[in-house]
Amino acid sequence: MQTNSRRSMVAGNWKMNGDKALVKQMQNVLAEVSLDNMDAVICPPFPFLGLFADNIKLGAQNMSQFDSGAHTGEVSVSILKEFGCSYIIIGHSERREDNFESDDVVAIKVEKALNAGLTPILCFGEPEKIREDGSLFSYIAAQLDAVLQQVGIAQFANIVLAYEPIWAIGTGKTASPEQAQEVHAFVRGHLAKLDSDIAANIVILYGGSVKGSNAEELFSQEDVDGGLIGGASLNPEDFLSICQAANQ
Ligand code: PEP
Repeated sequence: MQTNSRRSMVAGNWKMNGDKALVKQMQNVLAEVSLDNMDAVICPPFPFLGLFADNIKLGAQNMSQFDSGAHTGEVSVSILKEFGCSYIIIGHSERREDNFESDDVVAIKVEKALNAGLTPILCFGEPEKIREDGSLFSYIAAQLDAVLQQVGIAQFANIVLAYEPIWAIGTGKTASPEQAQEVHAFVRGHLAKLDSDIAANIVILYGGSVKGSNAEELFSQEDVDGGLIGGASLNPEDFLSICQAANQ
């Protein structure tokens, strides 16, 4: 088996939730523990980014596909960098759906984030009907291939992947550890056709109704390196217990 240097990671995606009080609570809870074997990342709504202390790793939930200028309501990667972001969630299924973000737009955003020196957390995953009709792997391969074509395999050394089956997001219906492992192993195999070293070392998170009670089992799968957490990241104690599950 190929050795790897993957470090566990848990990213909390607050989505359009939270308040200033939660920023403080989360900081206090994370300050009380040492999580030496993993990276904990908070991805709050944009206005809260500037409120976090420097010792918290931050991610944005989105970025503009443009660099600057007349794009009302958008936030550029350089602004996010100035506000302390080191990660950016790109291609979340809610943005693909609510904002009609295509694979091509996702690929452009990934390239811009990489050029700015930030780490994209590239989300991909299937709706339930795709899993049912048997086209799961070709669907996922196409989502990844759009980005591979844009940035090339070498840049995947600087990307974190997040497998998020749409049917498991915010539904309480978690993928089983075996279902998650199957897709993560497929993704590693898909990338290994281009570069086995990058495939072995890329961090692949699982997202979809992860909680303190199921995190350990999910994260113990060979190819699951941590989680992208929605609902449970809004409760600092729950988020902490998920981080602790990844810290082992
Ligand atoms: C998400 O939206 O990225 C997510 C995984 O949400 P939840 O944990 O609430 O399913």
